[in-house]
Amino acid sequence: MLKNEIDTAVDRVLKSGRYVLGPEVEAFESEFGSSCGASHAIGLNSGTNAIYLSLVALGVGPGDEVITVAYTFEATVAAILATGATPRLIDIDPQSLTMDVTLLENEITHRTKAVIPVHLFGQPADMDPILAISRRHGVSVIEDACQAHGAAYKGTPVGGLGDLSCFSFYPSKNLSACGDAGMVVTKNASLADAIRGLRNWGPDQRSGNYRMAALQAAILRVKLPHLEAWTTRRRFIASRYTELLRDTKLGLPLTMPYSGHAFHIYAIRSSQRDALQEHLRDQGIEVGVHYPQAVHQKKNYSGLNYNTGAFPVAEQLATEQLSLPIYPELPDGTVAKVATAIRQPIVQKHRILS
Ligand SMILES: *Cc1c(COP(=O)(O)O)cnc(C)c1O
Repeated sequence: MLKNEIDTAVDRVLKSGRYVLGPEVEAFESEFGSSCGASHAIGLNSGTNAIYLSLVALGVGPGDEVITVAYTFEATVAAILATGATPRLIDIDPQSLTMDVTLLENEITHRTKAVIPVHLFGQPADMDPILAISRRHGVSVIEDACQAHGAAYKGTPVGGLGDLSCFSFYPSKNLSACGDAGMVVTKNASLADAIRGLRNWGPDQRSGNYRMAALQAAILRVKLPHLEAWTTRRRFIASRYTELLRDTKLGLPLTMPYSGHAFHIYAIRSSQRDALQEHLRDQGIEVGVHYPQAVHQKKNYSGLNYNTGAFPVAEQLATEQLSLPIYPELPDGTVAKVATAIRQPIVQKHRILS
C-alpha cells in the first residue's frame, strides 16, 4: 500500500513549513498537467472553484450565458450561477449520458460565452463536434473533468481538449486527496496567468482565496503515478459487471467508440430502481444513485425556470440510474457477489427487474 510513501510525503511538508502553495503544489501542477498533455496547471482548493475561476478568467459575468447539461453534479451549474451568468441547460445523449451534441448549436445565442461539457461518470463527452460548433461561434469550451481523471477521447487524455479543463480531487474521485482540492489545466498561457492571479488575492475584484494546500499536493503526488493502473482496474471491473449482467433486462453503461472510459461510476438502469436498490442494500451491498433528480428538478435551481419534461432523457435517467460499487481495491469476488445478488430477483421475484 501507499501508507509509507504518504507518511513520508506528509512528514516532508510538515518539516518544510510551506503549507499553502509552494514547491509541493508547483511540483504536482507540473506532474498532473503533463499527464493531461496541458502545459499549464493551477492548483486550487476544489473542483467547483476550478470551474468558477475558469469562467471568471474568460470574463464571464452577469448578462452572459453558459451552456451545460441538465444531468450533472450540481456544482457545474452552481459555479456558473456564482459568476452571475445564466446557465442554459441542454439534454444528454441516451447512450453516452454526456452532452447531446445535436442540441448544442441551437442553444447558442449572442450572449453565450462558454460551453461546459461534463465527462459524466468518467465517459468523455463527444468533444470534436462540441469544439467545432463552439469555435464556429467564438464560444470557449471548459471541460468538467471532475469525474474523469485518466479518461481519454480518441486517445487524447481529457484535460487537454478544451480551452480550460477542471478537475476535483475530492476524496471520492478517481484521483483523490485527503480533503478538498482541485485544479485547472490549460494550454493557454494568458488564461493560466489570469487564474493564478485570481486564486490568491490578485488585483481583480473577483480574486480571493482559492489556493491548494501543500499537504494535499504532496499526497496527490504519491498517488498520481498509480492512476493509470487504477483506471485499468476500474475498466476491468466494469467489463466483468457487463459480462455478468449482459443477459439481464438491465440497461448497462456503454463505452462510446471514441471513449477511453475511466468508470468513475458504473451506472446500471432499471425501471424498478428503488426496489433493486433496497434489495441490494439489504444484502449489505453499497449502491448509490447519481443522481435522483436532474439539475432543473432540484429545488435550488427552480429559478432556472425549466419545467418537468424539458429534458426527457435526463429526467428518465434520474428515475432509473443505480451505481454499483466500483473502485480499484474492489475484489473480484465482490464483483461476482454483486452480480449474483442482482440476478437473484430475476430468478425468484421476476417482477423486480422485468
Ligand atoms: C465533484 C464534482 C464537481 C465539484 O468538485 P468539488 O471538488 O467537490 O468542488 C464538479 N463537477 C462534477 C461533475 C463533479 O463530479
